[in-house]
Order: sequence, then structure tokens, then C-alpha cells
Amino acid sequence: MIVTADWVAPVSRPPIRNGAVAVRGRTILEVGTLAKVSSRYPEAVVCDHQGCVITPGLVNAHTHLSLNALAGLVPSMPFPAWLARIAEVSRALDEEDHIASATLGALQCLQSGATVVGDVCYGPEALSAAGDMGLGGTFFWEILGVDGDDLASALEHREFPDDPAACAGGRLRCGISPHTPYTSGPDLLHATYQLARKRNAGYMLHLAESAEESRLFARGDGPLAALAERLAHGFTTPRSGAVEYAHRLGVLNGAVAVHCVHLGTGEAQLLAEHARGVVLCPRSNRYLHNGTAPVADLHALGADMAIGTDSAASNEGVDLFAEARAVNALDHGLSASRLLRMLTLEGARVLGLDDLFGSLEPGKQADLAIVRIGPTDHPAERLIEVGASAVVRGVMSAGAWRILDGRPVVAPDTILAAAERVRQKAAHVLGGVTDAN
Ligand SMILES: [Zn+2]
Repeated sequence: MIVTADWVAPVSRPPIRNGAVAVRGRTILEVGTLAKVSSRYPEAVVCDHQGCVITPGLVNAHTHLSLNALAGLVPSMPFPAWLARIAEVSRALDEEDHIASATLGALQCLQSGATVVGDVCYGPEALSAAGDMGLGGTFFWEILGVDGDDLASALEHREFPDDPAACAGGRLRCGISPHTPYTSGPDLLHATYQLARKRNAGYMLHLAESAEESRLFARGDGPLAALAERLAHGFTTPRSGAVEYAHRLGVLNGAVAVHCVHLGTGEAQLLAEHARGVVLCPRSNRYLHNGTAPVADLHALGADMAIGTDSAASNEGVDLFAEARAVNALDHGLSASRLLRMLTLEGARVLGLDDLFGSLEPGKQADLAIVRIGPTDHPAERLIEVGASAVVRGVMSAGAWRILDGRPVVAPDTILAAAERVRQKAAHVLGGVTDAN
């Protein structure tokens, strides 16, 4: 099949006017002008999208798909209060709920143009649900509140795969996340890091997300102190920022660092030098009153940066283009082509997936997003300006259409009904723990 549009933005090279992508099976065969590609494959069916740009399937580098059914249940509020409510709800959700929520989350990702995620999960449910919907990505098993010695049995209990790099034909990879350095003690941070290294799996940390976290690290008190006391066995006040602490413990090198809002002196430099990359989630940071990440500093220091929506429970939605515009508002020096790269190839690199995803090149996965941008001579600029779930016309992943003519190929009714059941269950739990809802 040949997919063509006014523009193709391969990301690994400049946009191609009247471009086309030839796809066979799950992979990309060729990328070029329609004239060139169709002369090579004259028999191929041509699928034309006028007024559109074809980009690689976007990368939503930080999601919690298992929580997406909870969107809007906990209103915008300061992070510690939000975390307490969500933790209460999470404990009440079972495997079936996680599957229903992750399936909804996967559908929403596809509708936003994303075919790849960096997801935080609690077991294999989100991964299989997302894989069934056609997503690829790295799924980071979240482990906290156990001792380092108990890590192996905790992972086994949660069915962490023996081969973290090869699920669903290699489209899904696994990683480990000890959540944060204040919900996992130093032993567990080490143990998870060593295991991730040994198994060639990704390692992800939420770092420097809130002012309350900074206060805990600097002074040992504040609203998160009781949580650290309960979960982070062996944690003592480091009297530094979270990034510096992670670096000192030896767990920053190669880590995917999410949020990185409240950085002390030298911490942006540490991230740029040692972390695999920083995942920016500006709208989630706003929802949870967490402030804004120093994007211009990270940019100037050469950090690899990806963009994530975080869970729909701490955002107004999972629209990645809106998230990219929110990143741009924090650093007007980021060009449209850099933002597009962050949404694709750079995001894939941060997740350790750029051999498969993130650019339109022969041999890579046939993951495409087709977005209506209208007539333009500047497709990247126009895409960042007008991109939105509402103008995503088509999405292909692993060579199969997931969204066509702006609509999901799979009828969404059952997915929405199952997610609504989870939402009602969660609302019931929240009714018992907060008078704010
Ligand atoms: Zn998160």
C-alpha cells in the first residue's frame, strides 16, 4: 500500500511535498515523492489524504493508561492532595479495571495521533490491552513500598516478562520504575536500577515534580514526609534536590526522568549529561499546581526531551499537540521542527525505541499519523499550530489502520462502556475519601 498526502514529514530528513510512504506488512518499504514511490510500486493501492501531512506515529512518552478512565474525577488541586485521592482509588481497581482503563487510554492515544507510549503500569494488563489496540511502547512496571531484597519476588508476582525487550514482536518493551526517590528507599532504587541494567530494560523515575518534593528533600518535612516515612524504607533527608540525590545514588545514568520541574543549581546539567532524557508534562504540572519546568535551560544544555500527557486523571486530556504547544509556551526558542522531533524521534529515543519508531524510514514500523493541516508551505509550523485530536484523520500502526476518516476502526462503544463502569466504581471510592467530590 502507498499512503500519500500533500506533505510527508519523515522527521529524519526534511518534509517532502507530495510525499508518499510505501508500506508492506508491518514495516515501511520506502519514503519519497509520490511520483518516485509509485513508479517503484506501480501495483500498490494508493491511499490519498489531501490537505494533510503524514508524520511518524507520535510518541506519548509519559502515560498511566491504567488510570485513564479516571479523567476528571479528581479536580485540579495541589499534588499531595491529588496523590492521596488517586492512591486510594488505585487500590480499589482490579486487573479487569486496569484493562478497561488502559484500553480506553490506548484508544485516546490513537485518536491523538500517538502509536507509541512510555507507560507506567502495575502489571501486564496495560501492556496487553495497549498491544491489542495496536500501540507500541515501553511499559515501566511500577514497584514501590517493598525492600530491595524483595524486588525479584515482587516482579515475579506481577509477571514481569523474562525477556523485557521482546513482547508483541518487539513493538512492546518493558522497563522498571521505582516511582520516585521518596516513595522508594535507596536500596530499592539501587535494586531496580541494577535489575533494569542486567535485563536490558528501561528505568524511569518521576523526579522533582512538586515544590513539596523539593521541601522534603531539602528539609525532611512537609506534606510528603509521612508518605516517604511509610514507603521509602531507609530514606533520610538528602539536603539536595531529587536529581542530585538520584545522581549520587548512581541511578540517574540512562534513566528516563519525568517532570523535572523544581531543579536546583546544576541539576539541569546533571540531567543533560546523565539521564537518557527528560519527559516534559506541562499540562499535568499545571493541573497539579506544580509550576513549570525550566525547558529553556534544558534546551540550552542539550538535553534530550520528550513530551508526555501523564495520566488523563491529571490532565485536561491526552492531546499531544496541546501538550507540545504548552511546552513551546515555556520556551519560545524551540522551533516547530524540534517540537515535532520531540513528539516523534526524540521521544522514541528517550524510551529506547528509536530503532523501531519515531521516523519514517525503510525498515521501521509502519506507524503513521495523518493530520489535516490545510494548504501550507510550512508543514511543521502549521502542524504544531493547528494539530489536535480533532484533525487527526488517520492513524496506522504496525501497518494496520486504527483511525480512518477521523474515526476509530474498532467500534468504541464497548470500550467506553467498560471504562464508564470503572469510572463509577472509582467515583464511589472517592465519595468515601473526600468531601470535595
Ligand atoms: Zn506519572
